[in-house]
Amino acid sequence: MSISGVKHFLSVGAKRLNPFSLQAIVACVFCVGWLVAFHSQAQSADPLKATGFLIAGDANRTRVVIDFNQKPEFSVRYLQDPNRTIVDIPSDVSFEFPAENAAAAGLYTLVRYGAMSAGHTRIVLTSDAPSSLEFSKVEADSSGSFRLVLEGVKTTEEKLSALVHADDWDGVHTTQAGRGGRLGGPATQESTNAFVIAVDAGHGGIDTGAISRDGKTIEKDITLAFAQELADEFNARPGFKAFLTRSDDVFLSLSERVRIARQNGANLMISLHADTLRQSFIRGATVYTISEKASDRLAAELAQRENVSDEIAGVVPDDTAAEASDILIDLTRRETQAFSERLAKMIVATFEGQIRLINNPHRHAGFHVLRAPDVPSLLIELGFLSNKEDEKLLTEESYRKQVSGLIVDATDHYKALIGQ
Ligand SMILES: [Zn+2]
Repeated sequence: MSISGVKHFLSVGAKRLNPFSLQAIVACVFCVGWLVAFHSQAQSADPLKATGFLIAGDANRTRVVIDFNQKPEFSVRYLQDPNRTIVDIPSDVSFEFPAENAAAAGLYTLVRYGAMSAGHTRIVLTSDAPSSLEFSKVEADSSGSFRLVLEGVKTTEEKLSALVHADDWDGVHTTQAGRGGRLGGPATQESTNAFVIAVDAGHGGIDTGAISRDGKTIEKDITLAFAQELADEFNARPGFKAFLTRSDDVFLSLSERVRIARQNGANLMISLHADTLRQSFIRGATVYTISEKASDRLAAELAQRENVSDEIAGVVPDDTAAEASDILIDLTRRETQAFSERLAKMIVATFEGQIRLINNPHRHAGFHVLRAPDVPSLLIELGFLSNKEDEKLLTEESYRKQVSGLIVDATDHYKALIGQ
């Protein structure tokens, strides 16, 4: 089995770096970024493809078989709360089987797969009952392809807990490296006078976000297209410098998004989303700011759903951005919140009469992605994929341009108002 060889891949976690040592971070980002780029390039000649997915079994034993065109390397780890089996593959994988083949079955209540970052793919099997793999192996078949076989069985809480703790794994196996490269590095000297905006495309990679009823429109694609447009609009406006937290289809944990914004000296973070609601008649945009207490039930439910992103991807939440016993941090946080509120109101006012808004379009909830203590942060629900009209609009370039233009106008006003 090829577990040991991949244990150390991409294990550069920002957690291990002194957060104040920017130089160390930059050096690391670039050197590992180069390694990752090299690694992906070496593989791109003959990409790894997953061509088939089979899941069968019952509540005690379930087998998952994934067909590959080449022999995949993989490693297995476990997490609890909820119970998850995590299979990491140290390569890019193109998933070419129909998504419905990988619907949850037997022991597993949720199956997710996708990119964590360049050169790192993950499969997450979630189960209600504690479960582990009795065995996992790669078999060659006569047609020259390979089969990854994962034999899941029900186990006890104690046994699963022992497996979780057998690994000194912190769960954060995404890499900062590839991202650093794509960000174009931290804010540069000449940009220090610019108003820096982190544009955050919600979801990505293994975390698809919401999916429209017919399965055709996927939130992570909508948010990325919007984020690119919004960053372009900002960068075309003098005095602004925008960067993307992700510029392709990779997963970013919520705390990584916050960290990327802070490390790049953002004056503002805008996170973009397009979720679904049970009430398909609800449509229009909403602007969210953070608060411990949600403004209403819809806001609370949405935040709860957004906050499971890390869980879906098998990432252990990192609470470093949330520690706030220090009174200075508390003060900063309050001030930051006031700025966020002010901008949210201005964006809503700019949207009014121009694009459709939901009732009470400025709402509050405990979104983890908005918790940077020192960077005013907003989450914009651009519309809802559960509504047909909104879904159509969200896929249109003209709508992307219009909404982005309005956000930039409002931010320009805000910037003038706070004297920057
Ligand atoms: Zn979302």
